[in-house]
Amino acid sequence: MSAMRRYLPVFHDVLGASVLVVGAGAVGTRKIEALLAGGARVTVVAKEFSPAVAESAARGDLTVLRDAFHPDQMREAELVFAATPDRELNRRVSAEARRRCIPVNVADSPEECTFLLPAVVRGEDFTAAISTGGRHPGAARALREFLEDHRAEISVRLERGRRRERIAARQGKVYIVGAGPGDPDLLTVRALGILRAADAVIYDYLVPQDILSLASGNAVKICFARRGRTAGHGAILKQSAIHEAMVRLAREGKSVVRLKSGDPLVFGRGGEEAEHLSREGIPFEIVPGITAAMACAAAAVLPLTHRGRSSSVTFVAGHDTGEKGGSAVDWSRLPKDGTLVVYMGVARVAGIARELAGAGFPPDTPFAIVENGSRPEQRVVRGILSGLSRIALDSGIRSPAILFVGRTAALLPFNYAGEIFDERVAQGV
Ligand code: SAH
Repeated sequence: MSAMRRYLPVFHDVLGASVLVVGAGAVGTRKIEALLAGGARVTVVAKEFSPAVAESAARGDLTVLRDAFHPDQMREAELVFAATPDRELNRRVSAEARRRCIPVNVADSPEECTFLLPAVVRGEDFTAAISTGGRHPGAARALREFLEDHRAEISVRLERGRRRERIAARQGKVYIVGAGPGDPDLLTVRALGILRAADAVIYDYLVPQDILSLASGNAVKICFARRGRTAGHGAILKQSAIHEAMVRLAREGKSVVRLKSGDPLVFGRGGEEAEHLSREGIPFEIVPGITAAMACAAAAVLPLTHRGRSSSVTFVAGHDTGEKGGSAVDWSRLPKDGTLVVYMGVARVAGIARELAGAGFPPDTPFAIVENGSRPEQRVVRGILSGLSRIALDSGIRSPAILFVGRTAALLPFNYAGEIFDERVAQGV
């Protein structure tokens, strides 16, 4: 190829341009028709004209000069085409155009062109030009046909790209949202609105499918946490992976929902996540949820505070921290005259029963365990502390379950469906 500068205009760029075409045979006619379709003002120089060009001329769509080629004919031209069967004449046209710095195209002679005509594919919202530098016209045609067959798919991909750009232009935000205990009806209105508009949802295993399905269908849904040695226990969560994912998705401009069971700030690591987001400069908002203590208390008609029975509520994490073979809680410092709510405790209920006894909780202190609170499988089990370990074992209580300890945990003078009440133990038998 020569060192000539090349252009690759597409025909919709010729609107209103003054174009000189020398030659009106088959090749010239094809160019003329394309130029007219693109809105160019065409002047044709030729001795003979194809019927199509003659018709266009008769309609006044173009100007014809029934003359020999003369460089003066280029005076107004912004583009020149040489398309005669006479190679010598074509070469002259090209040389004269270049001398005047007018872009010129010579049919079937790329060496004499300063621009080439690409094959053009127009889709609904795109125009694609294909050129092989004039060297492989067959390949260019095949590519054009291929693109024509895939026009719809290209449009879809373009739309996807535009959507991504729109998202990227937005500033991302992370919503640390409490999903409540499991019943979708216990979501807050705000949580529901945010879920519906989410681009991404990062959720914990305790969040049920019913709630996840309320998120936008387009949202990416990611679950990092899995049930582990002690279900619900944070130690096995890939917390740093969660942090990274939140930051990355928010930086992509997404509306990210970090969905947690219950309330994000009650044994939910919501605080750590908020800390990380603020360190990384990511805007965030915390949306509270109904924590398991509240939902399970309501389910068991268990007043957390009750006049004459309890004037304090303490939320405790009962799981094994792995540090000293027990929980990090100093049970002896907890109030014995209020309501104690033990999260994440059922897997080591025997240990907790021992620790409570060791801390001086009277053996006849009532307890209640609520398993799957607010969910269809909900169960409530009651008794007194001396029977805690055996009753929990006998009734096969499994996580998620919460343990209430205190006088408020005793059965109120109502009857509840689905309860297992061990009267023998309650009576100290
Ligand atoms: N942030 C959550 C607690 C997460 S820790 C909240 O505020 O509720 C996980 C523990 O929560 C479980 O081990 C269990 O003790 C309790 N839990 C969560 N959902 C529960 C449910 N539906 N019924 C009973 N206990 C539940």
